[in-house]
Amino acid sequence: MAITRRGFIKGSAAVTVATAAGLAVRDLMTEASEIKTVMSLCPYCGNGCGMYLEVKEGRVVNVRGMEESKASKGKLCILGLTAHEMLNVETRLKYPLIKRNGRFERAGWDEAIELIVRRFKEIIEKNGPDAMGVYHTASFYNEEYYLLNKLVKGGFGTNNLDGSARLCYASTVAAFVKVFGGDVPFMCYEDIDLADCFLVSGYNMSSSNPVSFDRIMQRKMDANTPLIVIDPRATMMAQKADIHLQIKPGTDIALNNALAYVLFKEGFVNEEKVSKYAGGLQELKSHIQKYTPEYTEGITGVHRDKIVKAAVTYGRAKNAVTLWMLGLNQSTVAVWKIASLWNLSLITGNIGRPGAGPLSITGQGTAMSLREIGGLPHLLPAHRGVANEKHRKEIAGIWGISPDKISPKPGKTAIDMFDAAGKGEIKGLWILQANPAATIPDTNKFIGAIKKAEFVVIQDAFHPTETTLLADVVLPAAQWAEKDGTASNAERGVNIAKKAVEPPGEAKPDTEIIMMIGKKMGYENLFPYKTNEDIFEEWKRCTKGQDCDMTGITYKRMEKEFGVQWPCLTPEDLGVKRRFLDLKFPTQDGRAILNICEHKAPAEPTDTEYPFVLITGLVREHFHSRTRTANIPRLARAVSHSYVDISPSDANKYGIRNGDVVKVSSRRGAVKVKAKVSEDIQQGAVFVPYHFGYLAGDDKAANLLTISAYDPISKQPEYKACAVKIEKA
Ligand code: SF4
Repeated sequence: MAITRRGFIKGSAAVTVATAAGLAVRDLMTEASEIKTVMSLCPYCGNGCGMYLEVKEGRVVNVRGMEESKASKGKLCILGLTAHEMLNVETRLKYPLIKRNGRFERAGWDEAIELIVRRFKEIIEKNGPDAMGVYHTASFYNEEYYLLNKLVKGGFGTNNLDGSARLCYASTVAAFVKVFGGDVPFMCYEDIDLADCFLVSGYNMSSSNPVSFDRIMQRKMDANTPLIVIDPRATMMAQKADIHLQIKPGTDIALNNALAYVLFKEGFVNEEKVSKYAGGLQELKSHIQKYTPEYTEGITGVHRDKIVKAAVTYGRAKNAVTLWMLGLNQSTVAVWKIASLWNLSLITGNIGRPGAGPLSITGQGTAMSLREIGGLPHLLPAHRGVANEKHRKEIAGIWGISPDKISPKPGKTAIDMFDAAGKGEIKGLWILQANPAATIPDTNKFIGAIKKAEFVVIQDAFHPTETTLLADVVLPAAQWAEKDGTASNAERGVNIAKKAVEPPGEAKPDTEIIMMIGKKMGYENLFPYKTNEDIFEEWKRCTKGQDCDMTGITYKRMEKEFGVQWPCLTPEDLGVKRRFLDLKFPTQDGRAILNICEHKAPAEPTDTEYPFVLITGLVREHFHSRTRTANIPRLARAVSHSYVDISPSDANKYGIRNGDVVKVSSRRGAVKVKAKVSEDIQQGAVFVPYHFGYLAGDDKAANLLTISAYDPISKQPEYKACAVKIEKA
C-alpha cells in the first residue's frame, strides 16, 4: 500500500479519499488570474471537511481539500470532490411554483409568499399554532436553523419543528443525555490518531464518513491498531477488521453485554476506580451475569471464542476509541444499544483522556448545529428545553418577546408529526430542504398523510423531488455555495463557509425566505438583522454561559482559524479539544451512568410468511435520497439503480441468480429490484440501499418496505430491521 504526499491511499478501501490537487493545479497554472478561491465546507456528511471552491466566470469549477482543516487535513471523499457539480444540475429549481388544478405553474415571489402567509395565518387562527408542522434538513447553516427556530417557536407559537436528524442521530443525542447528563459530545478527531484499539459498531464508515475511515486505516497501518467491527453485514469496514463480530440483526445489546461479561471475568475492570466516575457498576455487573459467551452465541450467532477474543483485545488496549452509527441509532431499542456500547468504554477506563472514549461523528452535514440551536421539538437554543420556564424566559429575553409566546409543551417529532397530518390534526406543513417522501419509513403511509394536509409548502433547491411533487407551493432555495453561513462539525469545531456564486434564477438563501414569510406574517420584530453576521451574533448571545459557549468565535476569526471548538469564551480562548478530562459529568452526582440494557428483538420479528430481516443502508456514492447525487454523472453511474443483496445460500434456495429481478415484500409494500448475490450478507437477511425514492421507479423505494416503529425515547425509526419475503419476479 503506497501513500502519496497528499494522503491518497492506493490499493486501499479508501481510494476515493484524495485532495483535488491534481485537478486544481492545472487550472491554477494556466488561468490563475481568472480563478477566485473561496473557503467553504463540504455540504454532505457530518465529518465537516473543509474545502476551497475555485470559481471562474460565476461558476464553481473545482473543489479542493483544505489542508488547515482539523477534520480532514486536506482530504475529501468522492462526494466532496464532486460537490460543485450539484450546483448546476438540470433539476435546480429556479422559480417559485404554485399548484393550480393539479399542475405546477411558475409564480412570482410576491404571489407565492402572499399565498403562503394567508394560508398559514388562516390555519393558525382557525385551529391554533399546533395545527402547523415544520420539518427541515440537517444540512442548514447555524443562521438558518436559528431563524427557523425563532419564527416557529417564538412567532407561530408551536414547537412542532423537527429535522431529518430525527432519522439519523436522535438516538445518540438521547443516549448522551441518559449516560452523561446532556447532549455533550466531548472528543475530537485527533483521538483517532492516538487510539490503540477501535471498536466500531453498526457503522460502515467507509461509506458514511470516508475521510475519518481513511484516518482510522492510517492509524491502523502506522501503529498496528486492532480494529473490531460489530455488524450484521460484511461491509468494507468489516472486511478491514481484525475481528468481525457478524451478529444477527438487532442483537447488539446482547453482544455488548457479553463483551462486558468477559471484561469483568478477565479482570479488565478496576471497580474502585470506575466507581469514582460512573454510577451503577454493581447493578451492571450483576445484570450481565446471564450474558455468558455461550448464552450470547445463541442470540447473536457469534461464536463464543470470538466474543472472548474481541473482549480481551479491547480490554488490553491502553486507549480504545468506540464509534457507532445508524446500525445502532435506527432501532426501537437504539438508546439502550448505544448505552450498552458505552458501558464498555466506562468500565474499562477508556474515558477522560486523549485517544479513549466514545467518539461521536454525525451522518448529516450540520446535525451538530441543529442540536446546538435546538432545531428539535423539545429544545430551545444552546441546549435549553422548552419545558423549562427559566430557559423559556432566557430565550424570550433575547428574542424580545413575552415568555408566554413560547409553548412549554414539546412538539411532535417527525413520525408523529406526519401521522398527525394523516389524522387531520396538523393542517399546514412547511418542509425545508428535505425529502421525507423518500426518507420517512413506510412511504405509502407518509404519502397518504401528506395528501390529507390542507396546505403544504416545500422549500428546496431541486424539483422535482418525491416531496416537492406533493406540495401546493414550491419555493426555490439556494445551495450551500450560494450563501454565507457557519456550522459546527462533529468535534464541536465551528467553521464558516463563504458565498462563492449566485443562486440560479430567482432562488434565494433560506434565511431570506424564512424572513420574508415571518415578516409578512407580522413578526417583523423577530428579524432586526442587516447581515448574516448579525444573526450569528444573536445566536452567540444564546450560547453565553451555556456549555456550548461560542462567545469567543466571530466571523472574522473563522475566516482565519478553521474549526475552533466550543466552549470558547473569549477571542483569545483557543477552544476546548476534549471535554471532561476531569471525569466530572453534568449528571446529578457528577458521575456517568452505567445503564442496565436488556436484549430485545426488533419490533417486527420474522415469521414463516415474512422470513427475512431487511436491513437498509447507504452506499458511498450517494447521499440521502439522491436529490444532489443522482445528477452528478460520476456518482449516478457508479450506483445507477437499486438492488437487493441476498446470501448465496438463500439465493440458491429461491432459485435466484445474480441480476435476476426479485420482488421484496413486507406488510406495507413491495419493490422489484435486481439481485446481487453476495457473501457480504448473512443467511436470513437481505439489504436494500435506502437512496432510491419513487421517482427512481414506482417499485424501487426501500422505504415502501420499512416500518415506522420507533425508539420510545429518541423517536428514531427502526430502518435496520423489518420482516420481508423474497421471490423471483
Ligand atoms: Fe464531505 Fe463527509 Fe466526504 Fe468529508 S467525508 S468530503 S464531509 S462527504
